[in-house]
Amino acid sequence: MNPPDPELLSLNTITVRERWNLREMIEGCARHRIRGISPWRDKLAQMGAKEAARAIRGNGLTVTGLCRGGMFPAADRKGRKAAIDDNLRAIDDAAVLEARCLVLVVGGLPPGSKDLAGAREMVRDGIGGVLDHARSAGVPLAIEPLHPMYCADRACVNTLAQALDLCDELDRSASGAVGVVVDVYHVWWDPLLRTEIERAGDKRLLAFHISDWLVPTADLLTDRGMMGDGVIDLPLIRSWMEQAGYRGFQEVEILSSGNWWRRDPDEVLATCRMRHQSAC
Ligand code: ZN
Repeated sequence: MNPPDPELLSLNTITVRERWNLREMIEGCARHRIRGISPWRDKLAQMGAKEAARAIRGNGLTVTGLCRGGMFPAADRKGRKAAIDDNLRAIDDAAVLEARCLVLVVGGLPPGSKDLAGAREMVRDGIGGVLDHARSAGVPLAIEPLHPMYCADRACVNTLAQALDLCDELDRSASGAVGVVVDVYHVWWDPLLRTEIERAGDKRLLAFHISDWLVPTADLLTDRGMMGDGVIDLPLIRSWMEQAGYRGFQEVEILSSGNWWRRDPDEVLATCRMRHQSAC
């Protein structure tokens, strides 16, 4: 199969979060001819959304997503309301950036709770509670299923099938207002992956995150591999995405406290570009 289009490489900025601020990330992407960028909200707040939007547009970059909204479940009504308010602000920031989507890491169990079904209902109600605002702002909401090892503390939506069931429930007509992120790190193991990518189709495939699964994995959160260094068949998953109609960016998202976060970000970006061509 053909190598991926280099124009469709995007940088999820967590990949270089330890050493660069958002302005340096934007300028780094431009320097390395990486055409997409996906900022995180902490760095965005430091720079200011309007200033960031100006710098991103000035460098001709596409914002492939804003990370992140979500975290809906909470122990009480006040907590759930605070989460909704935070998501409304995130939607507004995503609109200023003209982001292709707001990524939702939906949240896990409220502290002390064992009610997983209840947490999943709070997720559904939370997304439902901000969907009208997202629609009118023109910001698609992208549910990112996370690997089940994060079910308790980060996301109780763990498979693409589960995320798509939520989409069906919240947006029956598949308008594109809510869809999914396919992050290979979280879903590569799923025997239903191909079927569910096909089911999602181009309307609901809002983002595609790439990295690799290392064997062994030293840390559950911050030991992701560079594409090509692990066991994920990235070209195969890309072919499924393309067959389903996805024409968007491939966004490199690597959390790596022991390796890539320690390196010179210019080296990291150069490696991302190279591996995008040789391993994806
Ligand atoms: Zn991701």
